[in-house]
Amino acid sequence: MSALHDHTHCIADALTRADALCAERGARLTALRRRVLELVWSSHRPRGAYAILEDLSQQEGKATAPLTVYRALEFLVEQGLVHRIESLNAYVGCADPGAVHSGQFLVCESCGDAAEIDDPRVGAAIIAAAADRGFRVQRPTVEVRGLCKSCQENPR
Ligand SMILES: [Zn+2]
Ligand SMILES: [Zn+2]
Ligand SMILES: [Zn+2]
Repeated sequence: MSALHDHTHCIADALTRADALCAERGARLTALRRRVLELVWSSHRPRGAYAILEDLSQQEGKATAPLTVYRALEFLVEQGLVHRIESLNAYVGCADPGAVHSGQFLVCESCGDAAEIDDPRVGAAIIAAAADRGFRVQRPTVEVRGLCKSCQENPR
C-alpha cells in the first residue's frame, strides 16, 4: 500500500463497512470492538495485540485488560473484518470484508507490510490439493515472506 495516500479515508471506509456488515449479520459491533478495529487500521501494517492494548489504554486513560482486547480481536477475525497474520502474531484490517475469506498475504521481511492479495485461484488450489489428501481445511491463510517493491528499490 502506498504511503502517499489519505489514510483517514481508509479508516473511515473500514469503519463504515464494518457497521454495515455487522448490522446486516446481526452481529454486535460494540463501541470497544469498533475502537479496536480502528486501532488495527491505524496503518496497513499488521499490529500486535500488545500495541493495540497500549493505544487503547492510553485513549481510555486507564489500563485495559488484555483479555478484553483479545476477545474484541477474536470477534473481528470471526467477522472477517481483521486477519491474523500468524507468522507475525499480529492483526491487519481486511480491505474487502464482504465475503468471509482467509486471505493470502505478501509479508515484507524488511518493513513489515502485509499486502493482501486474495486470489480465489490460490484458495481454490489449496482446498483442492487438501481434498485430494482427505484433509479438511479450516483456515487456508497463506503468508508469503519476502521483500516488497519499495524495500527492494530503497534497501535499508
Ligand atoms: Zn490507507
Ligand atoms: Zn481479507
Ligand atoms: Zn517492505
